[in-house]
Amino acid sequence: MQPIVSVKDVKFSYPAGVSALKGVSLQVGQGERVALLGPNGSGKSTLILLIAGLLMPTKGSVEVFGQSTASKDFQKFRSRIGVVFQDPDDQLFTPSVIEDIEYGPKNLKLPAEDVAARSAHVLEKMGIAHLRDRAPHRLSFGEKKKVSLATALVLKPELLILDEPTANLDLVSRRGLIDTLNELNEAGTTVIVSKHDVEAFPELADRVIVISHGCLLGE
Ligand code: ADP
Ligand code: MG
Repeated sequence: MQPIVSVKDVKFSYPAGVSALKGVSLQVGQGERVALLGPNGSGKSTLILLIAGLLMPTKGSVEVFGQSTASKDFQKFRSRIGVVFQDPDDQLFTPSVIEDIEYGPKNLKLPAEDVAARSAHVLEKMGIAHLRDRAPHRLSFGEKKKVSLATALVLKPELLILDEPTANLDLVSRRGLIDTLNELNEAGTTVIVSKHDVEAFPELADRVIVISHGCLLGE
């Protein structure tokens, strides 16, 4: 079966000359739950941005759904991928929590009842119903993190990529996140999560990929 994600010998350097990835190859199959584990600075966020097609490799290739992220057709595949950035300030941009959560589903032109049902579900699961009408930029980091997770979960994407989703989450929201991810995974969503500690791994992933200094260390 064709993998959903295929990363081949990818090198990536930031403009300042920092070599963040030094030759990374990995494949992720349909319906897999994969965790990317590595210390701060090992290249997790860079790899996630490359898989999401938001950065382009300096060398090597990244294919998602069989399509190179460098191809000009890749934009069409964007709506099938949900990404949650490590920093929620990169994710949230509307005046209220509910507008941020409903932005994606409305953009996909889903029926209004469907948008309302989906947003109510993620608000409840992430324990943020009380934040519904609040301004995202005034929330605490942990609250923002939950809202940014909700903006991706609500899309029910085929591929969901989450950068350190459990950092700063309280136990209730962590439980809600794991339950929602498992719900989506059972419905066919492929999940990639990054983490810098091993806590909660068995519940989040079937396979762990270890990254260190821009290289994968094997599984
Ligand atoms: P992780 O997510 O595992 O903490 P990152 O992918 O954020 O790792 O970082 C990998 C390396 O790239 C680090 O050395 C980091 O300092 C560097 N880096 C990350 N983002 C940038 C950037 N925008 N400009 C320059 N260097 C960066
Ligand atoms: Mg990171």
